[in-house]
Amino acid sequence: LLEARAAVLAFGRTPALRGTDLRVARGEIVAVMGPSGSGKSTLLHCLAGILVPDSGEILFDGRRVDRMREAERSELRRDRFGFVFQFGQLVPELTAEENVAMPLLLGGARRGTALTEARDWFPRLGLEGLERRRSGELSGGQAQRVALARAMVARPDVLFADEPTGSLDTYTGEQVMELLVDAVRANGTTAVIVTHDARVAACADREVMVRDGKVTSPHLERTGP
Ligand code: ATP
Ligand code: MG
Repeated sequence: LLEARAAVLAFGRTPALRGTDLRVARGEIVAVMGPSGSGKSTLLHCLAGILVPDSGEILFDGRRVDRMREAERSELRRDRFGFVFQFGQLVPELTAEENVAMPLLLGGARRGTALTEARDWFPRLGLEGLERRRSGELSGGQAQRVALARAMVARPDVLFADEPTGSLDTYTGEQVMELLVDAVRANGTTAVIVTHDARVAACADREVMVRDGKVTSPHLERTGP
């Protein structure tokens, strides 16, 4: 469904991707691991059409994302992709349900319909009663679950998550990740999840390791049985 082929990208003189290859099948959940600064976020941004590599190819559903104009990529992100990042993705002045409804409203849904669909997600994620809470007044774990609902509400083909539990304590992070994986599986969504947490990665169908801007298989790095 999604593929990077020999993707190369540098920020000025800092190389971030040095010929990165990754294929993600439809419905697959891939965990991306690797040291800080190895290029994980950059790879995710290239796959999601946020950044365009200097060379190499990015393919989504057979289409060359790297050849699209910005308007086309932004449409793709809005219509087909969902995003969960580590911090600061909700609009604090809006209520939780308004935040979740936003992708539907941007997609042209009526306000009433969008809010009804948005509210459906609250009980599934253990958020009942928080629909009308201003999102600036949610706890970190609640805010990440609201962000997950917002990423999933428009039923994206691909969910991109970059350290979605990185700002949470271990216990809350595990709960959020469990809900994320359940929601992704229940909807047949393809997911690319960047994480430092090996337990999180264990929930995925496959782990890949990024080192110095290249994808390697973690199995090749393990020594011994
Ligand atoms: P972390 O685990 O710390 O989030 P990462 O694996 O996500 O790290 P990237 O953010 O992809 O790493 O960064 C890869 C390299 O590119 C690093 O050397 C980083 O300093 C550099 N880099 C990333 N974003 C920028 C930017 N906007 N401008 C300049 N350099 C950048
Ligand atoms: Mg990163």
